[in-house]
Formats: sequence, C-alpha cells, structure tokens
Amino acid sequence: MGEDVTLPRLSRHLLLASALEMARLANDALSRAGLDEASIVGEVRRGVAVVSELSLVLRGPADVQRVARALRHAAACEGVTVEGRDAVRMTFQGGGPARVRIVHRSRFVEALLRGTGSPRHVRWLERLAQGRGGLSWLCAQARSERDVYSALDLPFAPPELREGATPRIPPLVDSVSGVFHVHTTWSDGSASVAEMALAAGKAGYAYLGITEHSRAASYARGLDAERLAAQAREVKKARREVGGVAILHGVEVDVMPDGSLDLDDETLASLDFVIASVHVGLEMEATAMTERLVRAVSHPLVTILGHPTGRLLLGRAGYAFDVEAVATAAARNDTFLEINANPQRLDLGEDDVRRAAACGARFAIDPDAHTTRGIRDTPLGLSVARRAGLRREQVLNARATDEVLAYLSARRRAAKRRLALA
Ligand SMILES: [Zn+2]
Ligand SMILES: [Zn+2]
Repeated sequence: MGEDVTLPRLSRHLLLASALEMARLANDALSRAGLDEASIVGEVRRGVAVVSELSLVLRGPADVQRVARALRHAAACEGVTVEGRDAVRMTFQGGGPARVRIVHRSRFVEALLRGTGSPRHVRWLERLAQGRGGLSWLCAQARSERDVYSALDLPFAPPELREGATPRIPPLVDSVSGVFHVHTTWSDGSASVAEMALAAGKAGYAYLGITEHSRAASYARGLDAERLAAQAREVKKARREVGGVAILHGVEVDVMPDGSLDLDDETLASLDFVIASVHVGLEMEATAMTERLVRAVSHPLVTILGHPTGRLLLGRAGYAFDVEAVATAAARNDTFLEINANPQRLDLGEDDVRRAAACGARFAIDPDAHTTRGIRDTPLGLSVARRAGLRREQVLNARATDEVLAYLSARRRAAKRRLALA
C-alpha cells in the first residue's frame, strides 16, 4: 500500500474583494437551488483587507447534503466537502477556502455575533454578559444583534469595529456622495469618459472625477498638456450627454523624484482638481521619500495625494517614509490623503489612516477605477475608513455634493491667487 502523504497546507491569503466575490457566487448558487442566502461573518464582515478564509452562516434548519449539492454548482467552485452534520467547506478557483455553517434559527443571532467579532471582542461581550444570563442566553432571547448590544447597555457595534472593546462608537463615515480618481481610454482605462460617468451615476454617485495619468507615466499612455486640453473638450461634450452626474476634470499627475510635479502650474490650474501620485522611483531612502511627498502635498494645486504608500497587497510593501510628517504637511495645506479602494491597493491602510488622522489629516476615498466595474470597488475604501474610525467630516467625498463642488472651486481659486496665476 502506498504511503498516505499529507502536505501541509500553505497558508493562503485572500484579498477582501476576492472573498466578497466568493460569497456572491456561493449565494447565487444557494438562491438558484431555492435555499436562503448565507450571511457573511468573520474577518470579511469586519472588512479586514487580507483574510485567511471566507466564513458564512446559513439560517437553518437545512439539509447539509442539499446545501453541498447547491454549492457544487457555484461558478468557479473547485471542490465541496461536507464536514459533519452542519458544515460545508468549499474552495474556489483562483480564490481560496470558504466555510458555510448551517445554524438553527434559534441560534442564528449567536452565530452572527460570535462568528463576526474577533476573539477579543467576543470575550469582552461574554464578560459583560456574566450575571445577565450569559451571552448565549441573551442571544437566544434576541431577534437581532442590535438587541444583544442593547441588552448589555451598549451602542450597536458596526462589524468593522468589532476588534476589541467598543464601549463608545464614533459616528462613522457611512457613504460617499461621489468619487474621484478614474481612468478612461485616454490613458490606461477601458471605457470612455461618458461610459464612466454613466456607470458612476448607476452606482449612485453624484459626481465623478476623471484623472488620467500624466506624461511621465508613459507606460500608461500618460497625457501631456496638449492632450489634457483635448480631453477637456471631450469632458465638456460628455457633460452635455450624461445627465445626473457632475463630471470633474482632473489628472493623476506624477510626483517626480524631487517632489515637483510632471505638469506645469498653468495646466494644473485649468483642471477642477489634482491627484498627485508616485509611480516611478519607488526605491528611495525614507528621508528623501518623505521630502518628496511633503513637497507634493504642499503644492497649492494638489488636492489629493494618490495611493500614498504605493503598496500592493500580497505583492509589494509600500515605500518607506514618515507618514506623520507627510500627514502633518497635508493637514497644514488642506491636501487630502487618498484611501485608494482598488482591491489590490487599499492604500492608505487602516493603521496609517489612524496615524495620519491623529496628525489632523483628512481623506478622500477613491476607486482608482480603470473599468466601469472598478467604480464599484469604492465600498472597500469605506471599510478601511470605518475600521480606522473615521467620521464623515474627515472624508472629503462624504460631504454633500454641493459642498464638495463649491469647496473644490474655492480651493482652486485660492491656489491660483497664491501662485499668481490668471
Ligand atoms: Zn496611480
Ligand atoms: Zn490611478
């Protein structure tokens, strides 16, 4: 008989966006089979940027074999195994592992609560529930998680904050009115200006900021002043064609190694807003990188510092620099730091957001979309902001639309005055 060899499973990590997509595919398959959809719990519900697995709970009773059969038909499903009487483990091609647990309806609230909170948060709830019948008993009496928190005299804790104790809950940012930072076929995007604007409107956003790369990003067909002026004409045309969405014309200008910008001030001043990003010369010593970024955020025409650390999740670490120094300079100059919601970036990450917010910095949550679909990544950036405890007033595009548009034009007028531009 051959030897039974078991290879240790390599630790696999999943991007939040992939895990959410897996949940959607699993739930599609459950619905097609006439079963209820399962609820996301665990790290994915807490909005953690990189997770180890997707965890779902299905409100039962339900036959585990029937659930397994349904999940086998999920798109991109690679394998399904039944585990005991109430759990199904599955894997997705190019994704990772997922676990669906069937929980009787009488214990569903408990499964949501225990499944979602980090061990620290759950232990904290357990301690508070002592002498009040215990956490399981309180959950059994409750119709929702909200009821459990109120039985413990606590404010409801949004999943993103369930890492530790949550005696007080800040009024977290919960939506954005519009988005900045999308690319079109003018540089390395796949849709036209009008198509992107239509998609933004469909996603419920009231304004969209178009930002192509600048000429230094030649690999992405970056624009020079002349092509930007030509694009301005297309933007005007798209404004007439697409109703309901204000189209802002901006640019994602490259920050050169010395901290200067890849386009001249007159060109930048002709635009509604400016995102400045580092794409080249990432290998730089931390002090020099800090100086480079401080100079960029101090430029009067720079509105937002794009993907501030340059990190790629599960890819490359960001470049080293003094986050606090850059955040302080940004705050002093009314420049916003980006929370780039591109699934591979989520940059700034939650720890840096917290650190920068403590220095007084404010933020913009941007999809950095290169396709119409990419606009729908914006909520991933909201998760980062919420996990970092940001309030509405700390996020530029969480303000009301009129306020954002008025602010941007006032800011541009002030910058032109400072630079003595006509
Ligand atoms: Zn970029
Ligand atoms: Zn970009």
